Amino acid sequence: MTASSEKPLQTATRLVAAGRRPEWTGTPDHPGAVVNPPVWRASTHLYPDMAALRRHPGNADGHFYYGRRGAPTQWALAEALTELEPGAQGGGTVLYPSGVSAICGALLTVLRPGDTLLLTDNAYEPSRAMARGLLADFGVKTVWFDPMDSTAFAALCPGAAAVLLEAPGSLTMEVPDMPALIGAAKAQGLAVLVDNTWASPLGFAPLAHGADISIMSLTKHVSGHSDVVMGSTTAAAEWYGKLRLRSQNLGLVVSPDDAAIMLRGLRTMGLRLEASTAAALAVAQWLATRPEVARVLCPMLPGSPGHEHWRRDFTGGCGLFSFVLKGGTAKARDALIDALALFGIGYSFGGFESLATPVDPAAIRTASPWPRADMDPADRFAVRLAIGLEDPTDLIADLEQALAAWTAAQ
Ligand SMILES: *Cc1c(COP(=O)(O)O)cnc(C)c1O
Repeated sequence: MTASSEKPLQTATRLVAAGRRPEWTGTPDHPGAVVNPPVWRASTHLYPDMAALRRHPGNADGHFYYGRRGAPTQWALAEALTELEPGAQGGGTVLYPSGVSAICGALLTVLRPGDTLLLTDNAYEPSRAMARGLLADFGVKTVWFDPMDSTAFAALCPGAAAVLLEAPGSLTMEVPDMPALIGAAKAQGLAVLVDNTWASPLGFAPLAHGADISIMSLTKHVSGHSDVVMGSTTAAAEWYGKLRLRSQNLGLVVSPDDAAIMLRGLRTMGLRLEASTAAALAVAQWLATRPEVARVLCPMLPGSPGHEHWRRDFTGGCGLFSFVLKGGTAKARDALIDALALFGIGYSFGGFESLATPVDPAAIRTASPWPRADMDPADRFAVRLAIGLEDPTDLIADLEQALAAWTAAQ
């Protein structure tokens, strides 16, 4: 959906007002009658007469046509996300059935057979799998790069068609120098895609920093309640049109029920991000004082890889970070996670509940080693924490007894 032109409001205000067009939340004789757009369940859309069918503006946003093009529930969510993305004015947002589908939709929009994709070595694992599988099968070559080496990255850009960035990386949380990477890629004419799931547009603005397409798994922070899966791409006008057509070619659609749940989550995203960021920082600071912990990989924490880039370029954090144990075994790390009472074991983040998962990136890295060069090679077992909305003092107490279980399991 295209964003309406509005005078700039503060983010908290935009989170409340975004996408709530009166014509989508009411009837012609009572526009804006309800706060939220109703759930429009529809595959068939009807025309009053043949003249109306002939008059239809074709493939334009915001017009009833057929169920695959959505209805006001999905249009309101897409428009809200556009309004929240600095630099997307005049463009729009495409919704996808998952974050992975959004990444795929964006890559299939910018790449052609014979092209080279540059992919950050700390990317979300399904993005790596997509490059090795689907993209390779369709004649796209992938070159992996160390996101913390901007100079080496610039040397890879000539001749490449596109780059997929992530900031910070999904497991090891390095924050690259995004302006340097984006600048080097744009200087060589690459299409620049950013998986912005960790920060959301509240914490980092890819388009305003010169990127072409901002990608999010809405499953995480926007939903916020661990009950719905969805993704989005947001771009200025030129790429938005192409993303939208490619998504239509792929026949992608999201359900109005899911869009309504997503809109509900969106309204409180700012408050949830603030709370989980503050709690994550408190937990990270405590872990950094522990003798069992070799390294805390938390973008908001001084000393974490790329913390200075986070401080310079980001306007917020989130609850997701990792920590590395001092030596130990995989079995002891499993004992630590099993001993946690307040953390679920699950591969996600952005929900109201805290989660813990093991992190083992050594086997999948190709351009940057794990453990990192500045780490002791014996320190390789890590845990990723997604901090939710619990009181951090309870989470810290839980981690304290779990670290004791780790020591006992050595
Ligand atoms: C979860 C996630 C995705 C995929 O999102 P789904 O909605 O689960 O498909 C993509 N990128 C990152 C960084 C993620 O954390």
